[in-house]
Amino acid sequence: MTAGGWFEEAIHAHATQKLEITQVLYSSDTDLQKIVIFENPTFGRVMTLDDVVQVTEGDEFIYHEMMAHVPILAHGAVRDVLIVGGGDGGLLEEVLKHPVERATMVEIDRGVVDLAREYLPSICKGAFDDPRTDLVIADGARFVAETEARYDVVLIDSTDPIGPGEVLFQRDFYAGCKRCLKPGGILVTQNGVAFVQGEELTSSWRHFRALFADPAAYAVAVPTYIWGFMALGWASDEPDHRRRPLSIIEERYAAAGLDTRYYNPDIHIGAFALPTYMKELMQ
Ligand code: SAM
Repeated sequence: MTAGGWFEEAIHAHATQKLEITQVLYSSDTDLQKIVIFENPTFGRVMTLDDVVQVTEGDEFIYHEMMAHVPILAHGAVRDVLIVGGGDGGLLEEVLKHPVERATMVEIDRGVVDLAREYLPSICKGAFDDPRTDLVIADGARFVAETEARYDVVLIDSTDPIGPGEVLFQRDFYAGCKRCLKPGGILVTQNGVAFVQGEELTSSWRHFRALFADPAAYAVAVPTYIWGFMALGWASDEPDHRRRPLSIIEERYAAAGLDTRYYNPDIHIGAFALPTYMKELMQ
């Protein structure tokens, strides 16, 4: 991987995306995964893990705003948040825009956090230094199985189900997430791009259905997660969270004083309207 060359993503068997590399800022293997950070004229700094795009300066706001603000504003009284994965800090930064008391982030690879602080400060901003942040370097699956803490919202900002992220798509892990949710809490998960990773959505949704009263998903269009809508999985025992009227979400959004570039109350409601091919994957 060199300046002037192209990064070619290695995730889908029969389709790929390519991004031009104008500068390689970092490239190394940790014990767990291969990490590369490079510069691209369209997307700014790009972080890849095991040759899969994780985050870019240009479009990170879309995924992170939708993963944080949809469940937090739907819930309406969030105090304690758990993030599993999310080493770049972008999701943590969005969560901390709310008056939460504690945001615990359980990330398996300290290398990702250290590199994000050094090379992606425009994404994590000061999130890791916020006194409400509790950073735990551990396997998320083990954490949710063992912790005594309870959370209003649990957000799974994981890699794809390959390598260390594989366990974060399994039924035992989702049962652990349910175990550490407060009654009526909400679980949101990264569930891949439905058109090319449909089996991920189907499998997670079936686990949700077995464990929660309201299994669902919502859609977000992230430019660097190409091939159509990304699915964010949703699971809760409180069905009302997913059916809040627009007027309530508008009130909560205004009260939160958020300055967002993708998320707004209309998108919040509309994101749960799924195309038929995605609904068919949830059976
Ligand atoms: N938004 C991204 C995406 O979908 O491409 C995910 C970004 S975030 C960098 C994913 C993080 O999950 C990585 O930092 C990785 O180290 C972490 N991770 C993978 N498996 C994990 C596990 N079992 N426990 C905790 N964190 C894990």
